[in-house]
Amino acid sequence: MTTSRSTRPLSNDRPTRRILRIALALGALGALVAVAIVVVPLLRPPGPRPLFQLPVACGETWQLGTYPGHDDYDVDLFPAEGEAWGRPVLASYAGTVTVAGINGSLGGRTPQDPDGPRGRGGGYWVKIDHGGRWETQYLHLLEPPLVRVGQEVAQGEQIGKLGSTGNSGAPHLHYEQRRGWEKVETHFDGEPSGITTDDREYTVRRTSNNCAGG
Ligand SMILES: [Zn+2]
Repeated sequence: MTTSRSTRPLSNDRPTRRILRIALALGALGALVAVAIVVVPLLRPPGPRPLFQLPVACGETWQLGTYPGHDDYDVDLFPAEGEAWGRPVLASYAGTVTVAGINGSLGGRTPQDPDGPRGRGGGYWVKIDHGGRWETQYLHLLEPPLVRVGQEVAQGEQIGKLGSTGNSGAPHLHYEQRRGWEKVETHFDGEPSGITTDDREYTVRRTSNNCAGG
């Protein structure tokens, strides 16, 4: 009968090598688990579309528009009536805030100085993760967002005020819905908005049913 490995007497350097081997194996396993935790959720198919509502007050009618060079599916919202500056911007759906800060630079456009220096990018903005790989984002807010990263928000909860920070010509809300890695046509109250291309300038009107009340 031959001696098996386990019964062979161990030389002095063996335990060290064994510990090293175990450490390497554990390290590799840890790396695999880390990759799995990060990558697997990204590969999972997106969940069903949340019942998004217009990101503005219940019952108000707004003009949703786009223009050449905007980007397909991007929506600019202007109130059909009344002052745009400072109007409440509401969460389209419940979720967790993942961004609440400044994109690009703010510039200097305010209600007191609407033609002040134009900023870059989105200005004050908010991004909300709705689960199932669905996200919404809200750009050009007037002031620092009223929510912070990690905060849970309810549908209809106010997240900011409408403004013209960043690369914005006039006070409005730039809004997007995203599924996984891609922007998709915005839907409100279960109905597609019809804003699907930035080949030409066009608008549609919708009335907000964001009436949950936050
Ligand atoms: Zn826009």
